[in-house]
Amino acid sequence: MSSLANFDPEIAGLIEEERLRQVNGLELIASENVVSKAVLEAMGSIMTNKYAEGYPGKRYYGGCEFHDVVENLARDRLCKLFGAEHANVQPHSGSQANQAVYFAYLNYKDRIMSQSLTQGGHLSHGSPVNITGRWYSIFHYGVDSETETLDYAAIEDIARIAKPQIIVCGASAYPREIDFKAFQEIAETVGARCMADIAHIAGLCATGYHNSPVGVVDIVTTTTHKTLRGPRGGAIMCSKEDAPAIDKSIFPGMQGGPLMHTIAAKAVCFKEALTPAYKDYCGQVVKNARTMAEVLAEEGLDLVAGGTDNHLILLDLTGVSTDGQHLTGLAAETALGEAGITVNKNTIPREQLSPFVTSGLRIGTPAVTSRGMKEEEMKQIGHWIARVVKDVAKDPTSKKAITEVREEVIALASKYPLYPEVA
Ligand SMILES: *Cc1c(COP(=O)(O)O)cnc(C)c1O
Repeated sequence: MSSLANFDPEIAGLIEEERLRQVNGLELIASENVVSKAVLEAMGSIMTNKYAEGYPGKRYYGGCEFHDVVENLARDRLCKLFGAEHANVQPHSGSQANQAVYFAYLNYKDRIMSQSLTQGGHLSHGSPVNITGRWYSIFHYGVDSETETLDYAAIEDIARIAKPQIIVCGASAYPREIDFKAFQEIAETVGARCMADIAHIAGLCATGYHNSPVGVVDIVTTTTHKTLRGPRGGAIMCSKEDAPAIDKSIFPGMQGGPLMHTIAAKAVCFKEALTPAYKDYCGQVVKNARTMAEVLAEEGLDLVAGGTDNHLILLDLTGVSTDGQHLTGLAAETALGEAGITVNKNTIPREQLSPFVTSGLRIGTPAVTSRGMKEEEMKQIGHWIARVVKDVAKDPTSKKAITEVREEVIALASKYPLYPEVA
């Protein structure tokens, strides 16, 4: 019996239940993925025992000789992956990475311009309920109401009026390609710095399936656990000139000791991301999203911005209705969840409902692609999603489609084990 199961059967049991949930379901949350056994091993290692405040060669604690090598490997591999001049791999999360950039360059109540949360942005881009929305003055741009895509001329107009010190680009729920060069040019026009937050699309940027902002915009932040498929965490990339300010902002500015077990796992993740197999993976993620988008459109569902260029699809449910009341994101998320398909409700550009209810669904392919699924499976899943959504729209109490799809989901999932080598 494992030490955990022996000492704490309650937690061990819950981890096992969660493992089974992951194994038997289809994970379509766009920000989630399935890490490798190698990443898991590094994360669960004795590297967690050590304090390593500071940076390689400049630590505040003794005994960091191996941690220095690990952190340097992580930094060098990340720089190589993106062609960056400098990398900081210590941010505990994507939000911490963003806060560190603001803290490095802004004062209290300085101006940030970013994509609004209801139109694809992120909490850490200045939401009123977030620390960033309280400490800074926030100006938002959104998407064009017709095309539901970014309109760079309109963004430039807002920038000229708002005169922000930082322009943030990058999103959590935007299915189309982002023109990072256009954002940098707008920022230069108004004398702002440009920060690209590639939390979601980092893997695609690293492998050429999306244009990369590294070397194009001033500063790039990312998470390491979404398309990058590493441990939960963040990272920042910038020029040599910006490096001292960024590093100082993370430590001692915002964080204490780095999570060295996570940094070891980040190093493993970046090594994986440098392989041809990972590049193939990212290509498949994009192909899978496109295929599923086509099927959902064929089924008569409405896709925000008309489709996808990346790993995610945003469904607009306002057209899925009976008796004039459209199906909500919440109801669709719940029904699909019962069928074993995990997605999340999401606001859409012309949202009328609260963020707890919403009129949209966000669907992503990174996790199912990690399990080895390809276009054929995406077609099946797309049809299942449509079947469940239409059935509960017609009759909210119906369990017919849910029950049928649930069985098919289990059969499909069993063919694609989470960790084939231990299945
Ligand atoms: C997920 C995400 C983040 C934050 O990630 P956390 O690690 O959860 O803090 C930041 N920015 C964007 C655009 C994201 O999608």
